[in-house]
Amino acid sequence: MSWSEKYDVVIGLEVHAQLATNSKLFCGDSTEFGAGPNTHVSPITLGHPGTLPKTNKKAINYAIRMGLACSCEIEKDNYFARKNYFYPDLPKGYQISQHTTPICKGGLVRIKTDDGSFRNVQLNRIHLEEDAGKSIHDLDDQYTCIDLNRAGTPLIEIVTEPDIFSAEEAYQYVTEIRKLVRWLGICDGNMEEGSLRCDANISLKPKGSSKLGTRVEVKNVNSIRNVKKAIEFEVERLASILDAGKSVQQQTRSFDASNDTTFAIRDKEEANDYRYFPDPDLAPFHLTESFINSIAAELPVLPNVLQEKYQQELGLSAYDAHQLSEDLATSHFFEATTKFTSHYKAVANWILGPIRQWLHEHHLHIEQLHLSSEKFAGLLNLVDEGKINFSIASSKILPVLIADNKTSALAIAESLNLLQISDTGELEKWIEEVIAKMPDKVAEYQKGKKGLIGLFVGEVKKLSKGKADPKMVTSLLEQALQK
Ligand code: ADP
Ligand code: MG
Repeated sequence: MSWSEKYDVVIGLEVHAQLATNSKLFCGDSTEFGAGPNTHVSPITLGHPGTLPKTNKKAINYAIRMGLACSCEIEKDNYFARKNYFYPDLPKGYQISQHTTPICKGGLVRIKTDDGSFRNVQLNRIHLEEDAGKSIHDLDDQYTCIDLNRAGTPLIEIVTEPDIFSAEEAYQYVTEIRKLVRWLGICDGNMEEGSLRCDANISLKPKGSSKLGTRVEVKNVNSIRNVKKAIEFEVERLASILDAGKSVQQQTRSFDASNDTTFAIRDKEEANDYRYFPDPDLAPFHLTESFINSIAAELPVLPNVLQEKYQQELGLSAYDAHQLSEDLATSHFFEATTKFTSHYKAVANWILGPIRQWLHEHHLHIEQLHLSSEKFAGLLNLVDEGKINFSIASSKILPVLIADNKTSALAIAESLNLLQISDTGELEKWIEEVIAKMPDKVAEYQKGKKGLIGLFVGEVKKLSKGKADPKMVTSLLEQALQK
């Protein structure tokens, strides 16, 4: 019997997202990534005596954005607490976090499940906290180097309930979080630079049991694929412990990306190990209804809402709708183009096909595409009207149109001599040639093998070097072959 028949997997994720503010959570130090080590470290970051932290309003705004986007309840009466622990990359000896009053409570994140349908993952909370510095172990043989630039950078920690039930769901959840924070413009979502980090809590319980098993926590996993791999590894490991009749120890572990395994780093600490208390240097802050409402009013339309709209109002498939609402820039480009053409399906196909391919080949993101949606729609319309065929339009005209945004698709097609030939006289000449060349096939066709029409059309297209209008060729051929 495999473990999946014996055990239920239960996962809760804690995702840390670095907020895209210019300055730190409690002082004006820059949050820029990649600066020389220890260059963004004022006395406040270092917690020198006599310094006074002051809260970054934008960070609060961003945390509320995320909370509203996830339908959380926003806490009006907030305070910051000190979470005390000793670690070399924590200059103050405590981390400023929120304790009993997370700024956002509850909430939901919609994910794609293993069978392709959607469901909501229940959130526990989203709270604000500052990041620690960075310990660098591989720079020197004997010493660990400390870079405190990151210390004090604003984070939100998004904590789910134990409401995720497979490694694949966890993968989908983190993907969705990354999409959302980027959509809201509150975090760049760049996992390589550590802007998003995930702690995965995993437990197994006997199938169908309502009591949660003992969990292990894998800390600081830094890519979405590794979240999945870490969970897969842990599930196997926990199952073999339980299979052997032993019990799981609550533990904090780390993921080793070099061999896709995890290893224990410490036994689990309890909340009371941290001696939380309200930070005496920071006044509690109250959020007014009107402040929260003003943030709600600025929120962009959310991807789920757009996806629904694209399916319901524009008749697109679930797949297309989901892909087009993958990021804000794609949806903007899609919607801008639909102002000039109502062939929504064609616009979707073009963006998800040739445009994506072109971007991929040029290692660019859609935000870097300087293509006027009006000119782009012009190209689509040429195809639609049968003036050029799709493959010429996408392979020959699109790249020129992107490079030269001033000239219209029609002018480009004319200057490159790519317009389809729908002049009957010219087409008929080629048709005669093809019919004369293939008497056997013509006889077969006339005996009823109508599928051969494609072959004849293909031959005419070849003679025309791809420029014959296939619709006209087909109908002219049908007439000619009846004779
Ligand atoms: P801590 O801050 O000590 O890690 P929390 O209570 O904040 O503890 O929970 C951390 C995460 O662990 C949450 O996402 C929660 O859903 C998850 N979690 C708690 N218990 C379990 C369990 N038995 N199995 C899986 N996940 C769990
Ligand atoms: Mg935790």
